Amino acid sequence: MTDRCDLLITDIGELVPVAPPAGGAGPWRGELDDLPAIPAAAVAVTDGRIVALGPEAEVAAAFAPDETASAGGRVVLPGFVDPHTHLPWAGSREREFEQRLAGHTYAQIAQAGGGIRATTRAVRQASLDELVAAALPRLARMLAHGTTTAEAKSGYGLALEPERRQLQAIARLGELQPIDLIATNLAAHEIPDERRDDRAGWVRELCDTILPELRGDAEFCDVFCEDHVFTVEESRAILGRARELGYGVKLHADELVPTGGAELAVELGAVSADHLACTGPGGIEALAASETVAVLLPGTSFYLRKQDHAPARAMLAAGVAVALATDLNPGSSLTESVPMILTLACLQLGMTPAEAIVAATRNAACAVGRGHDRGSLEPGKLADLVVWDAPSWRYVPTHFGVSLVHAVFKGGREVYRRGGRE
Ligand SMILES: [Zn+2]
Repeated sequence: MTDRCDLLITDIGELVPVAPPAGGAGPWRGELDDLPAIPAAAVAVTDGRIVALGPEAEVAAAFAPDETASAGGRVVLPGFVDPHTHLPWAGSREREFEQRLAGHTYAQIAQAGGGIRATTRAVRQASLDELVAAALPRLARMLAHGTTTAEAKSGYGLALEPERRQLQAIARLGELQPIDLIATNLAAHEIPDERRDDRAGWVRELCDTILPELRGDAEFCDVFCEDHVFTVEESRAILGRARELGYGVKLHADELVPTGGAELAVELGAVSADHLACTGPGGIEALAASETVAVLLPGTSFYLRKQDHAPARAMLAAGVAVALATDLNPGSSLTESVPMILTLACLQLGMTPAEAIVAATRNAACAVGRGHDRGSLEPGKLADLVVWDAPSWRYVPTHFGVSLVHAVFKGGREVYRRGGRE
């Protein structure tokens, strides 16, 4: 007796489902040096979702597919979820790269009008169409590196209308290409130049106008809680208001100095606390006892040549749910490549390849509230999967600086193949 299915993906040399032992919608916690893998496997898909997976002999016997696709003996992993990007921006900042090489710090460049402030000037001048056109090639590169879902933040408008335009760009981009986009309102990214002498007024405007006005355009609200930006008290006020309005909350925390941002994220029930390069034992303990996912961004510490890296090993040992993201942005982490982030996570944060892959799939989905339907390959979950030109899953972070992606399936549909369709 066989069931019909839309698609049967056969001849998978090594299938790595990344399904946590506890199952369900939760993240994977704890230290890990191996991942369960199924050799000679197949995946059956109907209506965009996985209906069965396992040894090919069993799955192929149980299903009569309308269509088949061969993985050619390659490795299959879940599509990456990139849970922290600043995708919709305009302009470029390559001169700042040279200034940093010449010894200027990111803070000095920002004080001289560069950094976020430079991108804000460019975004305020850009139309919706221009923001969309600038971001589309970034999304094509993300797909070519195995990303099938990404979070995308506003935060370069720093006033109601340009923030709205960034969020509208994210919505339009979600319709124009295959990667699912999850929008975050990060109007609290900086104090705009024209409000430097009135930061209390800017916090009030965020709480009274910008957050309520843009509620329909973003699922999450995020704040840059840092020494020179928003204090813990200001962040608590903004995100408290965001929660009242029904946003899920996220927090840029403890990137440059320990501020207690991780503890604040836990106190607010944030879905994620991000950066955490300077988080101490108290923050780690709080995260471990919570549902808040720690999103680590090793591309940023690498790109800014920081010696302080997030304490990933201590977090994993304590049972914190750890995720990884690109932090894709024009100034402090200009990369679309999750595989590059995996390599940096291993080399700079001391994570194992197994921990890094969990962090970029299963746990990254939990960091954007999507643990119930993606981030792992299990019956009922979306058929978002990537076929890798690699001898084993361990090879993916081993070979760096290039894309080894052979093909990408999004919701059971092939949306990318290296070199086009054969
Ligand atoms: Zn960020």
